Amino acid sequence: MRDPNIGEILIQADELRARIADLGEQISADYAGREIQLVCVLKGAVLFVADLMRQLSVPCRVDFMAVSSYGSATSSSGVVRILKDLDHSIEGQHVLIVEDIIDSGLTLQYLLRNLRSRKPASLEVCSLLTKPSRREVDLPIKYTGFPLPDRYAVGYGLDLDQRYRNLPYVAALTDDAVRAAGGERPAPPAEPTR
Ligand code: 5GP
Repeated sequence: MRDPNIGEILIQADELRARIADLGEQISADYAGREIQLVCVLKGAVLFVADLMRQLSVPCRVDFMAVSSYGSATSSSGVVRILKDLDHSIEGQHVLIVEDIIDSGLTLQYLLRNLRSRKPASLEVCSLLTKPSRREVDLPIKYTGFPLPDRYAVGYGLDLDQRYRNLPYVAALTDDAVRAAGGERPAPPAEPTR
């Protein structure tokens, strides 16, 4: 029986596979002759980076960063705390930030500023999902997988209270589940983790 919190499937597993293969091809062409330093933003982007990096035909390295953004139940504030920093310097590297989803864009705005100050040779962003209607800041996002409507999405790395990350597709939460979780967008946990 399907989980009653899970509503409409927004992106099927085979659509994810096909789009990620396209992204891998495009990124490999753009970075031909260079090595990519992937920066995966934990935890939501873990499934995406694992699939994307297998589609790259250029050499790459991967490092992980965990951040938490503080905010109300419905929006992030742009105040970001680094929970886990990169293990290695990115100075002089061609850095590609790999994100799960860009909503207001405030978390990414902070990350871009933070990583730019470490003097990479180049810095770009690849986000599997974006919600264009919720964007509050204009950011240079070179690669995106799919635009999403303004719905709270779970699956393929995205969670609700750490659940549902293992779903092979991206689905919307039902309206009831969104309400039960505290409104338009579920409230962040007391000690936020992503
Ligand atoms: P932003 O700072 O762009 O408003 O928020 C980005 C972060 O909020 C994402 O990396 C993700 O952790 C969380 N987020 C935004 N929208 C959703 C959503 O629809 N589902 C889930 N599970 N997380 C979301």
